[in-house]
Amino acid sequence: MVVGFSGGSILSHITTLPLVKLIQKLFVDGCDFRFSLTSSMVSDYDLLRHTPVIYVIRDQEGVKTMSIGLHSTPYHAWGVVWRWCGTERCARPRDIRSSQTGSNNTIRIRQECIRCGWRSASLTTDNLSWVQRWDKAHPNVFTWRHPPSPGELMSFVTSTPKVERQGIPRVVVAEQSEEMEVDSD
Ligand SMILES: [Zn+2]
Repeated sequence: MVVGFSGGSILSHITTLPLVKLIQKLFVDGCDFRFSLTSSMVSDYDLLRHTPVIYVIRDQEGVKTMSIGLHSTPYHAWGVVWRWCGTERCARPRDIRSSQTGSNNTIRIRQECIRCGWRSASLTTDNLSWVQRWDKAHPNVFTWRHPPSPGELMSFVTSTPKVERQGIPRVVVAEQSEEMEVDSD
């Protein structure tokens, strides 16, 4: 198993202790990777607030790279860094705000782009098969295949009916195929 951190700036005083714990669980105590991760990284909310955790494992399906993220609104609904709204080439990082309704087990998220005013439908993780809760004991920790595909990151856009989208439609100018002829006589 390989473990890494995908946050922009990593502070070693936050990452060292959970890493040491993980190594101890795996190699000294001989626990399996899931239990080892749960008792080191997953239960360390200071770490997860600081950076998502990336781990690579080999199982029956082959080698998989996975992310672990802590749910927090408005920027990290289900731990994921969202970056697209319903308008092409609009949202920049931090333009997508997620608001939450519902409690731990059925968190509903609606997204809004502060740049163009686009609003998404309200979704739960049942609408997103690619994001899973880590376990019942850590209802705010989620895991998914890393990196998420563009289609997965567009989940809120593609799950929102077009009539609800408030983005400004792009104007497409058709190319003129006929040439103007000018009489010189
Ligand atoms: Zn937008």
